[in-house]
Amino acid sequence: MTRLHLVLTIVVSSMFVACASAPAPDPETASSGYDPQQDLGLLWVKHAAEYKAITKQAYRSAEAALPGYIADTSWSAMPGQTDAEKLPPAVILDVDETVVSNVDFQLAFERPFTNRKLYDFYREHAAIPVAGVVEFVAAARKAGVEVFFVTNRPCELIDDDPDPCPQKHGVIEELESIGISTDDEHVMLADENDWDRAKIRRREHVARTHRVIMLFGDDLGDFVPCVRIKLYGPCTEPATKASRAQFVEEYTDYWGNGWYILPGPMHGSWTSFR
Ligand SMILES: [Mg+2]
Repeated sequence: MTRLHLVLTIVVSSMFVACASAPAPDPETASSGYDPQQDLGLLWVKHAAEYKAITKQAYRSAEAALPGYIADTSWSAMPGQTDAEKLPPAVILDVDETVVSNVDFQLAFERPFTNRKLYDFYREHAAIPVAGVVEFVAAARKAGVEVFFVTNRPCELIDDDPDPCPQKHGVIEELESIGISTDDEHVMLADENDWDRAKIRRREHVARTHRVIMLFGDDLGDFVPCVRIKLYGPCTEPATKASRAQFVEEYTDYWGNGWYILPGPMHGSWTSFR
């Protein structure tokens, strides 16, 4: 083997090993080897007309279903919620990629992700509404439905700000800027009260006083608990790809029928199961 052949063999072999063994960089934690401008998930949300068509489709389907769910007082979109006939109707929406799109942040921020970077970005940039949500929220409220927002953005003290949860007021301001007015009572963050990142406790909190007629989110965790490897709330076993797929089957009757899921190709619990 000539010296040139030997060098080529080593180079080609190392390329193969790198391709075969290195997992794709995680877009949330990668600090190198990841280029958001090459990430098809991000590019699709940013550029595809289909993305807006899909989110409009979900919200318009939900709007058309509002009168039926309001009238049928035996209906709840919360598995296990019973005896809610006399409670006022409510819907629960996730925030990121459900009400506001973070695509510009995802394309721009310097990896790795921190909540502070997200917070700072929206002090300087306008929020982008997910297509269809503003119209849906207006229609729901007009029909007498209360609207709650459940987000896993955490409360974190910031510098000299005396506000114990500036992120909560950041979310309220973002929603206001896209035409959705709301308040402290209707926005629930991950670590308020005794809640945690499993959103089930916050959904249950709403369900104590309201009949929950619809859920909206871009992550399986916006609908069912125990979808992550980390254990939160009532979870005793880490999720697996198979357990997550099983949730979709177990609750098959809810999809498009009280549960409305939106595309989330940029981040989320699914990224741990590739
Ligand atoms: Mg989300």
